[in-house]
Amino acid sequence: MHTVTLNNGVEMPVLGFGVYQIPPEQTEQAVSDALAAGYRSLDTAAAYGNEEAVGRAIKSSGIPRQDLFVTTKLWISDAGEDKAKRAFDTSLRKLGLDQLDLYLIHQPYGDVYGSWRAMEGLHHQGLVRAIGVSNFHPDRLVDLIDHNEVTPAVNQVETHPFHQRTTDQELMRERGVQIESWGPFAKGRNNLFTHPVLSRIAAAHGKSVAQVVLRWLVQRAVVVIPKSVRSERMAENLDVFDFELTADQMAAITALDTGESLFFDHRDPAMVSRLGNVTLSA
Ligand code: NAP
Repeated sequence: MHTVTLNNGVEMPVLGFGVYQIPPEQTEQAVSDALAAGYRSLDTAAAYGNEEAVGRAIKSSGIPRQDLFVTTKLWISDAGEDKAKRAFDTSLRKLGLDQLDLYLIHQPYGDVYGSWRAMEGLHHQGLVRAIGVSNFHPDRLVDLIDHNEVTPAVNQVETHPFHQRTTDQELMRERGVQIESWGPFAKGRNNLFTHPVLSRIAAAHGKSVAQVVLRWLVQRAVVVIPKSVRSERMAENLDVFDFELTADQMAAITALDTGESLFFDHRDPAMVSRLGNVTLSA
C-alpha cells in the first residue's frame, strides 16, 4: 500500500476505506469485504454508530494489528478535556483495540482546546499514534497550531472535483498538516459519475470515473477514504496506482472547481448550532 509520512513520522496509507452512513448491521460485512479486497486503513467515527462493527471485522480478519491503520473521531458532545478522554476510552473499547492510529476532532466546535489537550495527552501516553482534526478551515487550523504543542497530523475535509481546496491544501502543506479528503466522489452529486470531462479522461485510460477522481486526488498528495458497500467497487476504488493523469488532464479537472461545498458550510451559524445539538446515543 502506498503511504504518506505524517508530521510525526507515522506512515499512513494514502487510500483507505470510509464507513460513514453504512448502517451498523451492514458494517461488519462491508469492512470484512474491504479488508479482503486489500484495504488496510479504516475511517470511522463515534458519530457513525458503527465502531463496534468495525472492531468485529478487524478481529475476525486475523490481520496483524500493525498492518492496519484505524481512524476514529471525537464528536462535539464529547468536547472538553475530561469528556474527550472518556470518549476516547469508549471508542477504543468499541473498536476492541488498545491503541488507535489516528484520532480526529470531528468538527471545529465546542471546547476544541480542551479536547486537543486531552488528545495531546493520549498521544504522549502512546495510546494514539497521531492526532488531527476534521472540517477545520485554515483560520481555525492556524489558531490551533499556534497555541498548542502538537500540530495536527491530518485535517480531513470535504475535497472532490467540485470543491478542490487547493489554497487550503497549500496552507496545510506549509504548516505540516496532511490533507485527507472526505466525500471524494461528492457522494455522486453534480452527476459526478457521468460527468463529461471526467468520463472523457476515464475513457482515455480505460478506467472508471471513480478511479480517475481517486487518481487525481492521490496525484495531488491528498489521502482518500472512499466508501462503498459493494465488493466490486471496493476493488475498483483500490486499483488506481497503475496509471497517471497527464498535466492536461489534471488541468481539465482543476477547471471543475466551484470553490464551494456541495454539502454545508462549516461557518454557517445555523449549521454550527444544528451540529452542536447532535448528541450521541450510548
Ligand atoms: P463518497 O465516498 O464520496 O461517496 C460514496 C458514494 O459513492 C456511495 O453512494 C457509494 O455507493 C458510491 N460509490 C463508491 N464507489 C463507487 C464507484 N466506484 N462507482 C460508483 N459509485 C461508487 O462519500 P462519503 O462516504 O461521504 O465519504 C467517504 C468517507 O469520508 C466516509 O465514508 C467517511 O469515512 C468520511 N467522511 C467524513 C466526514 C467528516 O465530516 N469528517 C464527512 C463525510 C464523510 P455504494 O456504497 O452503493 O457503492
